[in-house]
Amino acid sequence: MVKIDESRCMGCGICAGICPDGIEVIGGTAKIKNENATCIKEAAASCPRHAIILENTESSQNAPLYDRRSGLGLRMRGRRHRRGRR
Ligand code: SF4
Repeated sequence: MVKIDESRCMGCGICAGICPDGIEVIGGTAKIKNENATCIKEAAASCPRHAIILENTESSQNAPLYDRRSGLGLRMRGRRHRRGRR
């Protein structure tokens, strides 16, 4: 399941640009058009406000692309971790 956290979305349209089949911006807020679009995960990972929530956690392949507690993207968290060890 895919949701948009409208309190976080600023309507920038990055997600819709990356995944026009899955997301559209209406009235300044992103809306899910097709949650099964293959590009949804990439759009979620690219959202600067982490407003796209992927809720299917049945397998690691479908795990959220961000850490809900810290709000950081998992890729970002990994980069910070590596930077900290230098
Ligand atoms: S990229 Fe994020 S903040 Fe921008 S429109 Fe999409 S959901 Fe909203």
